[in-house]
Amino acid sequence: MSDTKRVYRFGSDANGVDVTEGASSMKYMLGGKGANLAEMCRIGLPVPGGYTITCQTCMEYADAGNVWPAGALDEIEAATRDLEERMGKRLGDARDPLLVSVRSGAPFSMPGMMDTVLNLGLNDASAQGLIAQTGDPHFVWDSYRRFIQMFSDVVMGVDAELFENALTDKRLIAGVRTDAELSADDLHELVEEFKGIFRANVSAAEHPELIVDGAIAFPQDPAVQLKLAIEAVFGSWMNERACIYRKANDIPDDLGTAVNVQAMAYGNKGESSATGVAFTRNPANGARERYGDFLVNAQGEDVVAGIRNTEPIQKMGEYPALAQAAADLERIFQILEGHFHDMCDIEFTIEQGKLWMLQTRVGKRTAQAALRIAIDMVEEGLIDRAEAVRRIDPAQLDQLLHPQFDASADFEVLARGLNASPGAAVGEVVFSSDDAVAAVAEGRKVILVRWETNPDDLKGMVAAEGILTSHGGKTSHAAVIARGMGAPCVCGAEAIQIDAAAKEARVAGTDIVLREGDVISIDGTEGIVVAGAVPLVSVELTGDLETILSWADEIRLRPGNTHPYHVRVNADNPEDAERALGFGAEAIGLCRTEHMFLGERKNIIQTFILSDDPAVREQALSDLLAVQTGDFLKMFRTMDGRDVVVRLIDPPLHEFLDAPRELEVDIARREAAGAPEAELAPLRARLRRIDGMAEMNPMLGLRGVRLSFVFPELPLMQVRAVASAAATLIRDEGLDPRPEVMVPLVALATEQVQMRAVCEQVIAEVAAEFGVALDIPVGTMLELPRACLTADEIARSADFLCFGTNDLTQTTFGFSRDDAESKFMPVYLHRKLVEKNPFETIDKAVLELVRMAVEKARSVKPAMHCGVCGEHGGDPASIRGLFNTAGVDYVSCSPYRVPIARLAAAQAKLAEPVR
Ligand code: ADP
Ligand code: MG
Ligand code: MG
Repeated sequence: MSDTKRVYRFGSDANGVDVTEGASSMKYMLGGKGANLAEMCRIGLPVPGGYTITCQTCMEYADAGNVWPAGALDEIEAATRDLEERMGKRLGDARDPLLVSVRSGAPFSMPGMMDTVLNLGLNDASAQGLIAQTGDPHFVWDSYRRFIQMFSDVVMGVDAELFENALTDKRLIAGVRTDAELSADDLHELVEEFKGIFRANVSAAEHPELIVDGAIAFPQDPAVQLKLAIEAVFGSWMNERACIYRKANDIPDDLGTAVNVQAMAYGNKGESSATGVAFTRNPANGARERYGDFLVNAQGEDVVAGIRNTEPIQKMGEYPALAQAAADLERIFQILEGHFHDMCDIEFTIEQGKLWMLQTRVGKRTAQAALRIAIDMVEEGLIDRAEAVRRIDPAQLDQLLHPQFDASADFEVLARGLNASPGAAVGEVVFSSDDAVAAVAEGRKVILVRWETNPDDLKGMVAAEGILTSHGGKTSHAAVIARGMGAPCVCGAEAIQIDAAAKEARVAGTDIVLREGDVISIDGTEGIVVAGAVPLVSVELTGDLETILSWADEIRLRPGNTHPYHVRVNADNPEDAERALGFGAEAIGLCRTEHMFLGERKNIIQTFILSDDPAVREQALSDLLAVQTGDFLKMFRTMDGRDVVVRLIDPPLHEFLDAPRELEVDIARREAAGAPEAELAPLRARLRRIDGMAEMNPMLGLRGVRLSFVFPELPLMQVRAVASAAATLIRDEGLDPRPEVMVPLVALATEQVQMRAVCEQVIAEVAAEFGVALDIPVGTMLELPRACLTADEIARSADFLCFGTNDLTQTTFGFSRDDAESKFMPVYLHRKLVEKNPFETIDKAVLELVRMAVEKARSVKPAMHCGVCGEHGGDPASIRGLFNTAGVDYVSCSPYRVPIARLAAAQAKLAEPVR
């Protein structure tokens, strides 16, 4: 037997003395729910007593193939006896029984992903005991039927629909609308019917322990009920939807779930009882208002299940029987925010006027709400600016940069619902998750339209652009999950009358029928549904986002222990540059000049590459010089006074040439059509030339600086364009252009030495021509391991260094960046050969190459300016490593990632190492 402690108590003993053993800091052991139940006990909030079985026990049980670790069951048994003593009631007692809930709770919240059983301990004897004790048979039979239903579904895997159907039949026969209106006798009958469903659907072969007198029977022994329920919660950690959720949310598989066994509080004991869920602030927009729903005379999941229509939490005080509880709840909201210094969500139950807290945690929120709440809490003195910046998830900012309906677009609202999760989306209607997944696999965009979602819909929700439901409130499953994923969601759009089987939906008050495949648009910020595709626009940085980012800038740009953390942008044209300035970019870290050769200019560069005639080539070059100079003029004017790093031509040549196969087909067609030789000959010559340039491995071939040695005219032309644009702006417009020239794909110091000489000579010529002083630094793009390993040598003839971490990742791994992601990266991720895609989040070996190269370069030139301009420059996890570990001065990323990088850089700064 091991001496690991597996069970932690929470709540008070029989004398009301707190005996809680856990705390909120212990979530890896007790799960989030268990840790915070303990914390609420510690700060004196009313919580029904119970105990928590650790996550580690779950993993040991699972790893051993669902076998209990030695001693664990004894410890649980002792904790159960202790709980009975504390509550003064016994499980299964025929006079005054204890009932418990068995609740899952992992270290990270996984809403609705795992299973909970309520009212455990009820059997035929204890049901009578509870009736004697409460004098309320309605409540007891309701609790018993709920228990059989949940136990059968969650623990035994019996189809939940069977019970729902029986319940619906009962309502119809009794002529009532809601379950709560059923009579005690109806409910008693249901208990017997449910037991019958249990007997008919649980296999005797799989559950010999449940055989009584030769047949399966609903278990009457509470100890058997409890053990099976705990095992089911452990098992739920590995169920399919939990695994999908963990994958979608980056939660490790080896954490396990804790199990909380807790005395029941009864929300279904009449009109002075209720159950509810709430947030201390509005999780959709962050407003300082209580937010949530409650249901009178109900239990547990009734609120989120959308079975009955709920009441908003603000109305609770208006119910005389609940007024005291509403006042207590308001006080607890304040205590919780004061204690956790954050917005919390809670689950509670009111039993005959007495409020019981059943759960709390820091609440999930939209990006918009996260910003609002952080700023308000700074104002309220609950947190400081650094904490506000630390709290915003950079990845979540993406949501805000999400599209919205174009305000100038003309559209008619088809239906309105609740604005459950912000952002807008356009897609084809699908009515099931499987259809959503299938359509997306075909490359179509879909809106998942459901009456209400449930955890089995998760894969469809992940696949869809947006979610629309006709039922359920802002805390319904669809709303909570969509907000967490950052997917637009409109819920409770009651006018949409769905017939999922027929795959169509009528729109009440109109004669419109939406069928599968019809395009609709939804706006989750406003709660609107529109037929057809509404044009979408991206939003600008305003208000709260601007405030948080300005605080982030204050933090990242102060010297601290190291140096300021700068953010630049990768931009190839003046429009992108303009947008990026609006997003707060400080300079252009990478301007890819070859993008200026695409479009209609492609034929100029093709002519240059393919022609044998020196005059034709010369003409092409001077055409290119003219267009590039024009581009740079605009670019440098936009970026006046700010650095613009211009990279010399880089990609493999074939990117500029026609695909030889297409040309071949073209020639064959013309031949077949009898085209004259005069027409065919030049095409054939062109094909021969393109074939002659073909390479086995173009990405390792004639590209980067190598191009500049094979076609020396190209860099001469490009540097001349850069220098003369700058000289023009200085001489004619009195501006302060700050271009820098960067040499790509350098492997050898000698390459840099020779290129630098060439560049400097051109710059000097242009300066003389224009009669101005030109100071244009020439630097190196480091993207090959050899260059990193000899960065000190290269540094001697480089004015700055910038790491191209895409190519550096490709060449460090030997993974083709064009093929890896479609060919084998999914397998590598699935098999956990790599933890993350190294093209998204920088790998530690690549980071080490960068760190080492920076160190080597600075050993030669201590002030060497070093940056990163790969995709990693926009990835929060990479940003932290690049600044804190590798010591770079800036990251450069695409325009839309700039706000994310500013925030991530500030967070890195707050975590910077002490030097
Ligand atoms: P989830 O993780 O899905 O939120 P919970 O364990 O919180 O599952 O249980 C769901 C609901 O069941 C709770 O919100 C609460 O309403 C009800 N519940 C759980 N435990 C108890 C209890 N001891 N007494 C009364 N209701 C309970
Ligand atoms: Mg649950
Ligand atoms: Mg809960």
